[in-house]
Amino acid sequence: MVISTEKIVMELRKNKNTIASEALELEQLKQSSDISTLISALQTTINLDELLPIFHRELLKVVNHSGFIFVHNELNISEQYGQRTNHKCEYDLSIESTSLGKLTFMRRKRFSEDELQAIERFVGVLLYPLKNTLLYRQAIQLAHTDPLTGVLNRSTLQSVFQKETSLTKRHHSDLTLITLDIDFFKAINDNFGHSAGDLALQEVTKCIQRTVRESDHVFRTGGEEFVILLNDTNLKGAELLAERLRIAVQSTSINYAEAQFAVTVSMGVTAYRENEPLENIMDRSDKALYEAKHTGRNKIASA
Ligand code: GH3
Ligand code: MG
Ligand code: MG
Repeated sequence: MVISTEKIVMELRKNKNTIASEALELEQLKQSSDISTLISALQTTINLDELLPIFHRELLKVVNHSGFIFVHNELNISEQYGQRTNHKCEYDLSIESTSLGKLTFMRRKRFSEDELQAIERFVGVLLYPLKNTLLYRQAIQLAHTDPLTGVLNRSTLQSVFQKETSLTKRHHSDLTLITLDIDFFKAINDNFGHSAGDLALQEVTKCIQRTVRESDHVFRTGGEEFVILLNDTNLKGAELLAERLRIAVQSTSINYAEAQFAVTVSMGVTAYRENEPLENIMDRSDKALYEAKHTGRNKIASA
């Protein structure tokens, strides 16, 4: 049998095309299986602290990268997974006009076009699960926050106290608690109106926030009462901080409409004793506060 060279070349071309299209189909199949694995994995959680590591793990199977950063300014979130390196690709995430933050992927060498496409496919799948976790986080934050001042509310005190006491135990460190109450606050409302009183509460909150460290916890526990939990701080340190705070509050001028006034605060300070419940330490700091009130106000007492 005589077969022409031309025919062989054509046959080979045909085979090559078949192989190429099979490879393409295989690649598409693999991509859709990667995507469905990602979809199922992301569906397992509503918690951002779990969602992002899952995303990181699944993306690593497809695109080698050193790490990524997720930032959401309005929600005060900045999380890094893996390592920072010099080559970056960034995505501003949004659904309709709602911003969902910014994702930055990093690597030592440049990402190829194919890799960027794979990242984009993964980011596309992340959008809706991410939106849900952000909504969930917002709802949790709201449930823990006092709407007037933005600090934590009373119902959150117990759980934060539990967390802090177990850390204190583990690190053999100190924990102190301050109870703060605005002096003659009723007179502020009576003289300048309830809205001026609200403004005073916000100004006192700002003084507290400027004085404590970021790792400390501030709660509004009642009308004009606050609790401050100071980790890694002994009684001496807490007294010094309370004194700085007392001065800061009394020197803050509050301007409401035509009125200009200042408020003072009294504080009770006490140190945590191992294994005691929240009621005990609160009781002690309340007694110290009572003493500060009854020995002149605008002062600090320790117990
Ligand atoms: P003392 O120095 O003994 O603490 O006196 P005080 O007037 O601060 O204490 P008192 O407990 O008599 O009054 C607290 C006032 O706080 C009464 C209440 O109307 C007011 N208050 C409670 N919650 C709010 C609030 O959210 N906004 C405003 N403006 N006032 C509030
Ligand atoms: Mg009070
Ligand atoms: Mg008061």
